[in-house]
Amino acid sequence: MLKEIFIGLSTNQMLTAAAKKYGLKLGAQNVVAGTNVEETIESIRELNALGISCTVDNLGEFVFEREEALKAKDSILEVIEAIHANGVDAHISLKPTQIGLDIDYDFCYENLKEIVAAASKYDMHINLDMEDYGHVQPSYDLLETLLKEYSNVGTVIQSYFYRAQEDIEKHKDLRLRIVKGAYKEPAEYAYQTREEIDANFIELIEYHLLNGKFTSIATHDHHIINHVIDFVEEHGISRDKFEFQMLYGFRKDMQVDLAKKGYNFCTYVPFGDDWYGYFMRRLAERPQNLNLVVKQVFNK
Ligand code: FAD
Repeated sequence: MLKEIFIGLSTNQMLTAAAKKYGLKLGAQNVVAGTNVEETIESIRELNALGISCTVDNLGEFVFEREEALKAKDSILEVIEAIHANGVDAHISLKPTQIGLDIDYDFCYENLKEIVAAASKYDMHINLDMEDYGHVQPSYDLLETLLKEYSNVGTVIQSYFYRAQEDIEKHKDLRLRIVKGAYKEPAEYAYQTREEIDANFIELIEYHLLNGKFTSIATHDHHIINHVIDFVEEHGISRDKFEFQMLYGFRKDMQVDLAKKGYNFCTYVPFGDDWYGYFMRRLAERPQNLNLVVKQVFNK
C-alpha cells in the first residue's frame, strides 16, 4: 500500500517542480550527494579514498521540454569534464527520458551520442539506466545504434521483466548492471512476487557471471550478495569480472566492508536539484527509509 502511494507521488509534476525550487529537503540529503558538481566531486573523492568507485547520475527523468533536455545534456557533459579534470574514479549513469526520449527519439539519440562521444575521449563508461516498461525497448534501440560506433556503453537488466532473459542473452557481451527493478509494473510484463523476482535475479546474475563480459550486481540485499560471493568462489570467477553496486547513503558499512574485502565496489552517486522522483522511489522500496525523513524533521 505504502509502496503504491510513494510510486504514485514519484511522478507528480507539481511536487517535482516544488522540490527543485526549495532544494534538498525531507532527508533527501542523506541519499543525494549534492546539488552541484563541486559537492559531488568531493563526495566521489571521499568514496574513492575508501577504495570505492562511483557511477554518477545527474538527477532527472520524464522530461517533456527540449530546453530542459538540452540543459540536462549540458550538465552531464560538465560532469564528464569534471571527472576527467579532477582525476577521480567515476563514470556516468543516465536516464534516456532525461535527455529527450519522451520528446523525440532522434533528438534523444543526438543528445546521447554527444555524451557518449565526449566520454569515449577519456575512455569513460556510460550506463543507460532502465526506466519503466514503455521506455525499455526504445532504450535498447538507442543502445544498439550507439554500439555501431562506440564501445563505452552498457545498460541495465531488470529482473522483474519476463523479457529479461532474452535481453541479457542479446547483450551478454556488454558491461551490464543487473537489478530487481524499481517501477510498478503489471503482471502482463513482470513478475509480481518477491520470490519470483529474487529467483530470476539470481538466475540472470549467474548467467552473466558465467557468460558475460562484466557484471554489476546492484542490490542492497545481503542474501543475494552472500549468494554471489559463494557462487563466484565455487566457479572460480575472478574478481575483475564483476562488481557490487549500491546507492549512495544506503548500507554504508556494508559498502566499505565489501571494498575492504577486496571486491570491486561502485556506489551510484545521484546529484542535482531534480531529486524528488528518485527519493520517492527509494521510500517506495523500503518504507523504513522514512526514518531518514523523521530524523530530518526532528533534527531541525
Ligand atoms: P530489496 O528487495 O529492496 O531488499 C531486500 C532485502 O535486503 C530487505 O528485505 C532487507 O533485508 C535488505 N535491505 C535492503 N535495503 C536495505 C537497507 N537500506 N538497509 C538494511 N537492509 C536492507 N532499478 C531500475 O529499475 N533501473 C535501474 O537502472 C536501476 N539502477 C540501480 C542502480 C543501483 C546501483 C541500485 C542499487 C539499484 C538500482 N535500481 C534500478 C533499483 C533496483 O531495481 C531495486 O528497486 C532496488 O535496488 C531495491 O532492491 P534491492 O535489490 O536493493 O533489495
